[in-house]
Amino acid sequence: MRKLGMVACLVSCVLMSSGAFGVEAVSKYPVTVAVLQLLYNDETKAMRSYWACARQAHREKHLNIELFFAGLAISKSIRVEAIETMLTDMEVEPAEPAETDIRVSKTKLNLKLLTNIQFPKLEKRYPILIERIKPEGHAVAIQNISHAWKVDVQHCELAEKILSSLESFFGIAAKIPDAFHVCQGCGSMVVDVPELTCPICEGPISDYAQADAKWRFYCAIEGCKLLSDQEKSFAVRMYDYIYAGEHEQEEIELAGDAFEGALYAKWGLGNPREFCLEEKIYLAGLEDMSRMWTDYNSIDADDLDEADKAFLKEMHNKYGDGPINLRRERAGKKGELSDEALKLLDMVEIVSGRTEFEDQDLIFLRALIASSPKSGS
Ligand SMILES: [Zn+2]
Repeated sequence: MRKLGMVACLVSCVLMSSGAFGVEAVSKYPVTVAVLQLLYNDETKAMRSYWACARQAHREKHLNIELFFAGLAISKSIRVEAIETMLTDMEVEPAEPAETDIRVSKTKLNLKLLTNIQFPKLEKRYPILIERIKPEGHAVAIQNISHAWKVDVQHCELAEKILSSLESFFGIAAKIPDAFHVCQGCGSMVVDVPELTCPICEGPISDYAQADAKWRFYCAIEGCKLLSDQEKSFAVRMYDYIYAGEHEQEEIELAGDAFEGALYAKWGLGNPREFCLEEKIYLAGLEDMSRMWTDYNSIDADDLDEADKAFLKEMHNKYGDGPINLRRERAGKKGELSDEALKLLDMVEIVSGRTEFEDQDLIFLRALIASSPKSGS
Protein backbone atom coordinates (compact mmCIF):
# COMPACT_ATOMS: atom_id res chain seq x y z
CA MET A 1 0.00 0.00 0.00
CA ARG A 2 2.88 2.32 0.81
CA LYS A 3 4.23 1.87 -2.73
CA LEU A 4 0.83 2.61 -4.22
CA GLY A 5 0.75 5.79 -2.15
CA MET A 6 4.16 6.83 -3.40
CA VAL A 7 3.24 6.33 -7.05
CA ALA A 8 -0.05 8.18 -6.54
CA CYS A 9 1.87 11.04 -4.99
CA LEU A 10 4.37 11.08 -7.90
CA VAL A 11 1.51 11.17 -10.37
CA SER A 12 -0.16 14.06 -8.54
CA CYS A 13 3.15 15.95 -8.48
CA VAL A 14 3.53 15.53 -12.23
CA LEU A 15 -0.12 16.52 -12.66
CA MET A 16 0.51 19.77 -10.86
CA SER A 17 3.91 20.55 -12.33
CA SER A 18 3.54 19.75 -16.00
CA GLY A 19 2.59 22.90 -17.84
CA ALA A 20 1.32 22.59 -21.39
CA PHE A 21 -1.84 20.49 -21.29
CA GLY A 22 -4.10 20.05 -24.27
CA VAL A 23 -7.58 21.21 -23.32
CA GLU A 24 -9.13 17.89 -24.23
CA ALA A 25 -6.43 15.86 -22.52
CA VAL A 26 -6.65 17.73 -19.27
CA SER A 27 -10.37 17.18 -19.06
CA LYS A 28 -10.46 13.61 -20.33
CA TYR A 29 -7.17 11.94 -19.39
CA PRO A 30 -5.47 13.85 -16.59
CA VAL A 31 -4.06 10.78 -14.85
CA THR A 32 -3.01 9.12 -18.10
CA VAL A 33 -1.11 12.24 -19.11
CA ALA A 34 0.58 12.42 -15.72
CA VAL A 35 1.59 8.76 -15.84
CA LEU A 36 2.95 9.14 -19.36
CA GLN A 37 4.98 12.18 -18.30
CA LEU A 38 6.36 10.16 -15.43
CA LEU A 39 7.32 7.28 -17.70
CA TYR A 40 8.73 9.68 -20.30
CA ASN A 41 11.03 11.02 -17.64
CA ASP A 42 12.08 7.57 -16.37
CA GLU A 43 12.58 5.99 -19.78
CA THR A 44 14.64 8.93 -21.03
CA LYS A 45 16.91 8.68 -18.02
CA ALA A 46 17.17 4.91 -18.42
CA MET A 47 18.09 5.35 -22.08
CA ARG A 48 20.90 7.74 -21.19
CA SER A 49 22.23 5.48 -18.51
CA TYR A 50 22.14 2.37 -20.75
CA TRP A 51 24.18 4.19 -23.37
CA ALA A 52 26.68 5.02 -20.67
CA CYS A 53 26.71 1.36 -19.55
CA ALA A 54 27.30 0.31 -23.16
CA ARG A 55 30.31 2.64 -23.35
CA GLN A 56 31.62 1.26 -20.09
CA ALA A 57 31.31 -2.31 -21.39
CA HIS A 58 33.17 -1.18 -24.53
CA ARG A 59 35.98 0.21 -22.40
CA GLU A 60 36.20 -3.11 -20.55
CA LYS A 61 36.21 -4.92 -23.89
CA HIS A 62 32.99 -6.79 -23.03
CA LEU A 63 31.83 -6.27 -26.59
CA ASN A 64 28.82 -8.59 -26.39
CA ILE A 65 27.61 -6.86 -23.26
CA GLU A 66 28.14 -3.53 -24.99
CA LEU A 67 25.65 -4.74 -27.60
CA PHE A 68 23.26 -5.85 -24.89
CA PHE A 69 23.27 -2.42 -23.27
CA ALA A 70 23.04 -0.74 -26.66
CA GLY A 71 19.96 -2.91 -27.31
CA LEU A 72 18.44 -1.81 -24.01
CA ALA A 73 19.13 1.82 -24.87
CA ILE A 74 17.59 1.43 -28.32
CA SER A 75 14.58 -0.25 -26.75
CA LYS A 76 14.21 2.66 -24.35
CA SER A 77 14.46 5.22 -27.12
CA ILE A 78 11.65 3.40 -28.96
CA ARG A 79 9.61 3.62 -25.77
CA VAL A 80 10.45 7.29 -25.33
CA GLU A 81 9.36 8.01 -28.87
CA ALA A 82 6.09 6.11 -28.40
CA ILE A 83 5.28 8.06 -25.25
CA GLU A 84 6.17 11.28 -26.99
CA THR A 85 3.76 10.42 -29.80
CA MET A 86 0.93 9.64 -27.39
CA LEU A 87 1.44 12.91 -25.52
CA THR A 88 1.74 14.95 -28.70
CA ASP A 89 -1.44 13.35 -30.02
CA MET A 90 -3.15 14.70 -26.91
CA GLU A 91 -1.55 18.10 -27.57
CA VAL A 92 0.60 17.78 -24.50
CA GLU A 93 4.25 18.68 -24.60
CA PRO A 94 6.48 16.03 -23.02
CA ALA A 95 8.44 17.55 -20.14
CA GLU A 96 12.15 17.02 -20.79
CA PRO A 97 13.85 15.46 -17.78
CA ALA A 98 16.47 17.57 -16.08
CA GLU A 99 20.07 16.85 -17.05
CA THR A 100 21.52 14.65 -14.38
CA ASP A 101 24.97 13.27 -13.95
CA ILE A 102 25.09 9.77 -15.30
CA ARG A 103 27.31 7.60 -13.20
CA VAL A 104 28.11 4.07 -14.22
CA SER A 105 30.03 1.41 -12.38
CA LYS A 106 31.98 -1.52 -13.73
CA THR A 107 30.02 -3.67 -16.15
CA LYS A 108 29.39 -6.55 -13.79
CA LEU A 109 28.02 -4.22 -11.15
CA ASN A 110 25.88 -2.45 -13.76
CA LEU A 111 24.29 -5.80 -14.63
CA LYS A 112 23.75 -6.60 -10.96
CA LEU A 113 22.12 -3.24 -10.31
CA LEU A 114 19.81 -3.90 -13.23
CA THR A 115 18.73 -7.36 -12.23
CA ASN A 116 18.58 -6.84 -8.47
CA ILE A 117 17.33 -3.30 -8.11
CA GLN A 118 16.15 -1.49 -11.22
CA PHE A 119 14.09 -4.16 -12.94
CA PRO A 120 12.25 -5.44 -9.84
CA LYS A 121 11.35 -1.84 -9.01
CA LEU A 122 9.89 -1.29 -12.48
CA GLU A 123 8.00 -4.53 -12.46
CA LYS A 124 6.25 -3.57 -9.26
CA ARG A 125 5.46 -0.17 -10.64
CA TYR A 126 3.76 -1.11 -13.89
CA PRO A 127 0.68 -2.86 -12.46
CA ILE A 128 0.12 0.10 -10.15
CA LEU A 129 0.35 2.59 -13.01
CA ILE A 130 -1.96 0.53 -15.21
CA GLU A 131 -4.53 0.35 -12.42
CA ARG A 132 -4.32 4.11 -12.04
CA ILE A 133 -5.01 4.91 -15.69
CA LYS A 134 -7.57 2.19 -16.42
CA PRO A 135 -10.64 4.20 -15.32
CA GLU A 136 -9.84 6.87 -17.95
CA GLY A 137 -9.94 4.23 -20.69
CA HIS A 138 -7.14 5.53 -22.94
CA ALA A 139 -6.76 2.22 -24.78
CA VAL A 140 -3.48 3.04 -26.56
CA ALA A 141 -1.78 4.17 -23.36
CA ILE A 142 -2.99 1.12 -21.44
CA GLN A 143 -1.73 -1.21 -24.14
CA ASN A 144 1.54 0.65 -24.46
CA ILE A 145 2.30 0.48 -20.76
CA SER A 146 1.31 -3.21 -20.65
CA HIS A 147 3.80 -3.83 -23.45
CA ALA A 148 6.47 -1.86 -21.63
CA TRP A 149 5.96 -4.04 -18.60
CA LYS A 150 6.44 -7.24 -20.61
CA VAL A 151 9.44 -5.76 -22.38
CA ASP A 152 11.11 -4.95 -19.08
CA VAL A 153 10.48 -8.46 -17.76
CA GLN A 154 12.10 -9.80 -20.92
CA HIS A 155 15.08 -7.47 -20.51
CA CYS A 156 15.47 -8.57 -16.93
CA GLU A 157 15.54 -12.24 -17.86
CA LEU A 158 18.16 -11.54 -20.50
CA ALA A 159 20.27 -9.55 -18.05
CA GLU A 160 20.09 -12.38 -15.52
CA LYS A 161 21.30 -14.88 -18.11
CA ILE A 162 24.21 -12.66 -19.10
CA LEU A 163 25.15 -12.06 -15.51
CA SER A 164 25.16 -15.77 -14.73
CA SER A 165 27.34 -16.42 -17.80
CA LEU A 166 29.71 -13.74 -16.62
CA GLU A 167 29.85 -15.18 -13.14
CA SER A 168 30.56 -18.71 -14.28
CA PHE A 169 33.95 -20.26 -13.79
CA PHE A 170 36.28 -17.29 -14.30
CA GLY A 171 34.19 -16.47 -17.33
CA ILE A 172 35.56 -19.52 -19.13
CA ALA A 173 32.20 -21.19 -19.53
CA ALA A 174 30.57 -17.88 -20.34
CA LYS A 175 28.72 -17.76 -23.60
CA ILE A 176 27.13 -14.42 -24.05
CA PRO A 177 25.14 -13.93 -27.25
CA ASP A 178 26.90 -11.75 -29.80
CA ALA A 179 23.75 -10.32 -31.37
CA PHE A 180 20.54 -8.86 -29.97
CA HIS A 181 17.48 -7.87 -31.94
CA VAL A 182 15.09 -5.10 -30.96
CA CYS A 183 11.47 -4.80 -32.10
CA GLN A 184 11.04 -1.28 -33.46
CA GLY A 185 7.37 -1.44 -32.52
CA CYS A 186 7.52 -2.12 -28.80
CA GLY A 187 11.18 -2.32 -27.79
CA SER A 188 11.16 -6.08 -27.14
CA MET A 189 14.72 -7.43 -27.25
CA VAL A 190 15.56 -11.01 -28.16
CA VAL A 191 18.58 -13.07 -29.13
CA ASP A 192 16.76 -15.06 -31.80
CA VAL A 193 14.17 -13.27 -33.89
CA PRO A 194 10.79 -14.99 -33.40
CA GLU A 195 9.43 -16.99 -36.32
CA LEU A 196 6.10 -15.30 -36.89
CA THR A 197 5.35 -12.09 -35.04
CA CYS A 198 6.66 -10.17 -32.06
CA PRO A 199 5.40 -12.05 -28.98
CA ILE A 200 4.73 -8.78 -27.20
CA CYS A 201 3.20 -6.34 -29.70
CA GLU A 202 2.40 -8.90 -32.42
CA GLY A 203 4.10 -6.68 -34.99
CA PRO A 204 5.83 -8.23 -38.01
CA ILE A 205 9.26 -9.76 -37.46
CA SER A 206 10.59 -7.41 -40.11
CA ASP A 207 10.31 -4.80 -37.34
CA TYR A 208 13.24 -6.44 -35.57
CA ALA A 209 16.57 -4.71 -36.09
CA GLN A 210 19.92 -5.89 -34.82
CA ALA A 211 21.21 -3.75 -31.98
CA ASP A 212 24.29 -1.78 -32.89
CA ALA A 213 26.46 0.19 -30.52
CA LYS A 214 26.76 2.90 -33.19
CA TRP A 215 23.00 3.13 -33.66
CA ARG A 216 22.61 6.67 -32.33
CA PHE A 217 25.26 7.98 -34.68
CA TYR A 218 23.74 6.20 -37.67
CA CYS A 219 20.27 7.54 -36.82
CA ALA A 220 21.57 11.10 -36.48
CA ILE A 221 23.33 10.95 -39.84
CA GLU A 222 20.40 9.23 -41.51
CA GLY A 223 18.10 11.97 -40.27
CA CYS A 224 20.28 14.80 -41.59
CA LYS A 225 18.47 16.41 -44.50
CA LEU A 226 21.45 18.48 -45.63
CA LEU A 227 23.60 15.46 -46.48
CA SER A 228 23.45 13.59 -49.77
CA ASP A 229 23.48 9.80 -49.67
CA GLN A 230 27.16 9.79 -50.61
CA GLU A 231 27.98 12.25 -47.85
CA LYS A 232 26.09 10.13 -45.35
CA SER A 233 28.08 7.06 -46.35
CA PHE A 234 31.29 9.06 -46.02
CA ALA A 235 30.33 10.24 -42.51
CA VAL A 236 29.48 6.68 -41.50
CA ARG A 237 32.82 5.36 -42.83
CA MET A 238 34.60 8.08 -40.89
CA TYR A 239 32.77 7.18 -37.69
CA ASP A 240 33.32 3.45 -38.14
CA TYR A 241 37.03 4.22 -38.46
CA ILE A 242 37.06 6.36 -35.31
CA TYR A 243 35.03 3.79 -33.40
CA ALA A 244 37.35 0.93 -34.30
CA GLY A 245 40.47 2.84 -33.29
CA GLU A 246 42.32 3.07 -30.00
CA HIS A 247 42.20 6.48 -28.35
CA GLU A 248 44.85 8.00 -26.15
CA GLN A 249 42.54 10.58 -24.65
CA GLU A 250 39.92 9.70 -22.07
CA GLU A 251 37.75 12.74 -22.60
CA ILE A 252 37.39 15.60 -25.05
CA GLU A 253 36.02 19.05 -24.30
CA LEU A 254 34.15 20.41 -27.29
CA ALA A 255 34.15 24.17 -27.80
CA GLY A 256 31.07 25.98 -26.51
CA ASP A 257 30.00 26.94 -30.03
CA ALA A 258 30.69 23.48 -31.47
CA PHE A 259 26.98 22.89 -32.08
CA GLU A 260 26.34 26.14 -33.90
CA GLY A 261 26.91 27.19 -37.47
CA ALA A 262 26.61 25.69 -40.90
CA LEU A 263 29.28 23.03 -40.37
CA TYR A 264 27.45 21.42 -37.47
CA ALA A 265 24.07 21.85 -39.14
CA LYS A 266 25.31 19.84 -42.09
CA TRP A 267 27.65 17.22 -40.66
CA GLY A 268 26.71 17.30 -37.00
CA LEU A 269 24.61 14.93 -34.92
CA GLY A 270 21.39 16.85 -34.38
CA ASN A 271 20.28 18.22 -31.05
CA PRO A 272 23.18 18.19 -28.61
CA ARG A 273 22.98 15.35 -26.10
CA GLU A 274 25.56 13.54 -24.03
CA PHE A 275 27.91 12.39 -26.77
CA CYS A 276 30.27 9.48 -26.26
CA LEU A 277 34.02 9.90 -26.69
CA GLU A 278 34.03 8.62 -30.27
CA GLU A 279 31.21 10.97 -31.22
CA LYS A 280 33.16 13.84 -29.68
CA ILE A 281 36.26 12.85 -31.65
CA TYR A 282 34.10 12.84 -34.78
CA LEU A 283 32.65 16.27 -33.93
CA ALA A 284 36.05 17.72 -33.09
CA GLY A 285 37.23 16.68 -36.55
CA LEU A 286 34.29 18.09 -38.54
CA GLU A 287 36.25 20.93 -40.08
CA ASP A 288 39.02 18.66 -41.40
CA MET A 289 36.49 16.11 -42.53
CA SER A 290 34.38 18.58 -44.46
CA ARG A 291 37.49 20.11 -46.04
CA MET A 292 38.68 16.66 -47.11
CA TRP A 293 35.34 15.97 -48.73
CA THR A 294 35.36 19.26 -50.64
CA ASP A 295 38.98 18.82 -51.74
CA TYR A 296 38.36 15.27 -52.90
CA ASN A 297 35.28 16.18 -54.89
CA SER A 298 36.93 19.18 -56.53
CA ILE A 299 39.60 17.01 -58.14
CA ASP A 300 39.11 16.93 -61.89
CA ALA A 301 41.00 13.95 -63.26
CA ASP A 302 40.82 15.45 -66.75
CA ASP A 303 42.40 18.70 -65.73
CA LEU A 304 45.57 17.91 -63.78
CA ASP A 305 48.76 19.90 -63.47
CA GLU A 306 52.10 18.47 -64.60
CA ALA A 307 53.14 17.40 -61.10
CA ASP A 308 49.93 15.41 -60.64
CA LYS A 309 50.34 13.79 -64.04
CA ALA A 310 53.90 12.84 -63.20
CA PHE A 311 52.74 11.34 -59.90
CA LEU A 312 50.09 9.24 -61.64
CA LYS A 313 52.63 8.04 -64.16
CA GLU A 314 55.01 7.05 -61.41
CA MET A 315 52.26 5.17 -59.53
CA HIS A 316 51.09 3.30 -62.60
CA ASN A 317 54.65 2.42 -63.60
CA LYS A 318 55.13 0.97 -60.16
CA TYR A 319 51.77 -0.73 -59.61
CA GLY A 320 50.39 -1.30 -63.09
CA ASP A 321 47.59 0.25 -65.11
CA GLY A 322 44.03 0.57 -63.88
CA PRO A 323 42.88 0.92 -60.28
CA ILE A 324 45.58 0.21 -57.71
CA ASN A 325 44.82 -2.06 -54.81
CA LEU A 326 46.83 -0.30 -52.15
CA ARG A 327 45.48 -2.61 -49.47
CA ARG A 328 47.34 -5.45 -51.06
CA GLU A 329 50.42 -3.29 -51.49
CA ARG A 330 50.36 -2.15 -47.90
CA ALA A 331 49.86 -5.72 -46.68
CA GLY A 332 53.04 -6.61 -48.58
CA LYS A 333 54.90 -3.80 -46.82
CA LYS A 334 53.72 -4.73 -43.35
CA GLY A 335 55.76 -3.03 -40.68
CA GLU A 336 57.55 -0.77 -43.15
CA LEU A 337 54.97 2.00 -43.33
CA SER A 338 54.76 4.68 -40.67
CA ASP A 339 51.54 5.17 -38.73
CA GLU A 340 51.11 8.50 -40.45
CA ALA A 341 51.41 6.92 -43.91
CA LEU A 342 48.88 4.25 -42.96
CA LYS A 343 46.51 6.91 -41.70
CA LEU A 344 46.72 8.79 -45.00
CA LEU A 345 45.88 5.60 -46.90
CA ASP A 346 42.95 5.01 -44.54
CA MET A 347 41.70 8.52 -45.19
CA VAL A 348 41.72 7.98 -48.94
CA GLU A 349 39.67 4.80 -48.43
CA ILE A 350 37.23 6.63 -46.17
CA VAL A 351 36.76 9.56 -48.53
CA SER A 352 36.55 7.53 -51.72
CA GLY A 353 34.74 4.51 -50.29
CA ARG A 354 37.08 2.34 -52.36
CA THR A 355 39.98 0.04 -51.66
CA GLU A 356 41.04 0.00 -55.31
CA PHE A 357 42.28 3.50 -55.94
CA GLU A 358 41.31 5.33 -59.13
CA ASP A 359 43.29 8.31 -60.42
CA GLN A 360 41.13 10.75 -58.46
CA ASP A 361 41.97 8.82 -55.27
CA LEU A 362 45.68 8.80 -56.07
CA ILE A 363 45.71 12.54 -56.69
CA PHE A 364 43.92 13.03 -53.39
CA LEU A 365 46.50 10.82 -51.69
CA ARG A 366 49.24 12.97 -53.17
CA ALA A 367 47.58 16.12 -51.83
CA LEU A 368 47.29 14.52 -48.39
CA ILE A 369 50.95 13.53 -48.43
CA ALA A 370 51.93 17.06 -49.46
CA SER A 371 49.94 18.64 -46.63
CA SER A 372 50.96 16.13 -44.00
CA PRO A 373 53.69 17.51 -41.72
CA LYS A 374 55.04 14.12 -40.70
CA SER A 375 54.87 12.09 -43.86
CA GLY A 376 58.12 11.01 -45.36
CA SER A 377 57.38 7.64 -46.88
ZN1 LIG B 1 7.15 -5.81 -30.68
